[in-house]
Amino acid sequence: MTLLAPLSPLPRVSSPFGVPRGATLHNGTDWPAPAGTPLHAMSDGVVEFRLAGGNSGNAVGVRSSDGRTLWSLAHMQDVFVGVGQRVRRGEVIGTVGFTGHVIPAGPAGAHVHVRVERDGQLLDPEKAIRGIVVLDLVLLGVTTWGLYELYKRSPWRRPL
Ligand SMILES: [Zn+2]
Repeated sequence: MTLLAPLSPLPRVSSPFGVPRGATLHNGTDWPAPAGTPLHAMSDGVVEFRLAGGNSGNAVGVRSSDGRTLWSLAHMQDVFVGVGQRVRRGEVIGTVGFTGHVIPAGPAGAHVHVRVERDGQLLDPEKAIRGIVVLDLVLLGVTTWGLYELYKRSPWRRPL
């Protein structure tokens, strides 16, 4: 399932998924936008958690209707949805802010931190949005098939 970008248009990434962050790796992707910019639901689903305070600031996590994907947005200014609420893909569920731990502190640091989990595994949100996860699997399949075909034709193959 390809997720909808929470910002439209989608700006340039300010901090990609997986880059070192102190002792850990960045578990999401950051996109900068002025505070107050509308944030859209990335899929249909149900609000699973809502946080305030802490490093994430105001944050919302939504379980997509396929049940497998949990996406969340952090550092929000406004949050328009509550736990248990149903959201529709594209619906405005809050706005960009700089709550929680953002660098630089204050309006200049305003961005949305997007985190995506599928079947309990962290995904690169950029890829989840662009559908590259599916493409990766297709390429892997084609490559595996190609290698197998080469192997079958190779002179080194032992007779079965
Ligand atoms: Zn981040």
